[in-house]
Amino acid sequence: MSSAAVDQVDYDIVVLGAGSGGYACALRAAQLGLRVALVEKDKIGGTCLHVGCIPTKALLHAAEVADTVRDAASVGVRATHDGIDLAQVLRYQDEVVGRLYKGLTGLVSGRGVDVVSGSGRLAGPGQVEVDGRTLRGRHVVLATGSAARLLPGIPIGGRIVTSTEALRLTTVPERVVVLGGGVIGVEFASVWRSFGAQVTVVEALDRLLPPEDPAVSAAVQRAFRRRRIEVRTGVRVAGAVDDGSQVTVTFEDGGVVSADLLLVAVGRVPVTDGLGYAEAGVTLDRGYVTVDEQLRTGVPGVYAVGDIVPGLQLAHRGFAHGIFVAEHIAGRNPASVVDALIPRVTYSDPEVASVGLTESQARERYGEVKTVEYSLAGNGRSQILHTQGFVKVVSVPDGPVVGIHMVGARMGEQVGEAQLICAWEALPGEVAALVHAHPTQNEALGEAHLALAGAPLHAHA
Ligand code: FAD
Repeated sequence: MSSAAVDQVDYDIVVLGAGSGGYACALRAAQLGLRVALVEKDKIGGTCLHVGCIPTKALLHAAEVADTVRDAASVGVRATHDGIDLAQVLRYQDEVVGRLYKGLTGLVSGRGVDVVSGSGRLAGPGQVEVDGRTLRGRHVVLATGSAARLLPGIPIGGRIVTSTEALRLTTVPERVVVLGGGVIGVEFASVWRSFGAQVTVVEALDRLLPPEDPAVSAAVQRAFRRRRIEVRTGVRVAGAVDDGSQVTVTFEDGGVVSADLLLVAVGRVPVTDGLGYAEAGVTLDRGYVTVDEQLRTGVPGVYAVGDIVPGLQLAHRGFAHGIFVAEHIAGRNPASVVDALIPRVTYSDPEVASVGLTESQARERYGEVKTVEYSLAGNGRSQILHTQGFVKVVSVPDGPVVGIHMVGARMGEQVGEAQLICAWEALPGEVAALVHAHPTQNEALGEAHLALAGAPLHAHA
């Protein structure tokens, strides 16, 4: 950048997009004393807060309450489940999102970040144009996030929806087809089944949650079968027609299913088109921004964070990216964000939580591996909760734990310790030596490591 351009800068960092990646970067940079502009065309908080993590988890909580009430008699509590008041579910969802949004807005303004409302584009190194105004920064952070991937020939509208519209339904559909057995599809399938719908999940690959360990996918499929959620794997959709009264979905194998609603949940695409990135010299690969370990694009001073960077599309990865870039720009020496150690949770019933390598990934990397699958049947707290599942631990023989995979109600809450174990490269014996509280589901992690260390307590050999 020329010294003339440096003289003219208004900010140390101009962040384009105020989702998880962008706002985290802005908050951390401001905390480190940098002058920051945060450009947002919609609401700060982005996908996660407004149409992603938070509203879906509110729906999933309502779903859990519905199931709890439905099953209340089994634990001796008389209660009746009279149906779902979706208007109240939406009010509850809005209250949660609204409180967090208010808190976030206050935090951003309290830290002195300049929020610039409007649609921005990268006008060149160090320059972001927002509705005709140019913001100049020593650095620019691209954080424009992702949008639902659509399928050719299946236009969104009416009875064909993406997750965004699915969050705002005012009635529970009787029959739903969910296209896509990834995290979003599995979570919505779980919600709608709990709300009383007949649900069919269709996945083109051979199992649900394809990036997870196959043992996890198999357990979720079994649990879904018990919940009478139909799962069709290895099936590709050919088309869908909404005739106003129902949607008819046809498959390449000749199959046809009719439903009241079709959710298209076949992944997310990066939002990078038409924003001046390529013109400014930023390298794109199938729409994703190519970056190095420091999240730098090839253009000096221009970084990218969050869902537009190839890899796991998760909010906490976006936060970590944003914090990393802010610290890097501030001259700290932060550690790079490693996708392999980012915890992953699917909040369906049953929940799935994992970190590190699957068994086959570990075999590819290390050759031989050791695994233990500890069933929640031996875990008191899980029995109290009437849940089934397991903790599977993958380790290198005579070496550290490299992957942990868990299925069962509330197992997402266990992912913190699992992450510490993998990230600190703990040996099974070291974890086995830690005392886990009884009766918690956390004990299942302890037991799995006891078994891996050769001294199982509550496990049948
Ligand atoms: P986004 O959050 O998409 O933010 C990008 C922001 O940039 C948006 O606010 C957008 O308006 C703005 N923007 C775009 N273009 C411009 C422009 N030209 N000018 C100005 N502003 C612009 N992740 C989890 O970790 N846990 C979950 O439970 C979870 N659940 C999810 C459920 C659903 C249904 C979905 C869709 C996603 C879920 N995710 C979850 C993923 C998570 O939401 C994303 O990984 C995260 O939001 C990515 O953050 P980001 O900052 O990269 O992008």
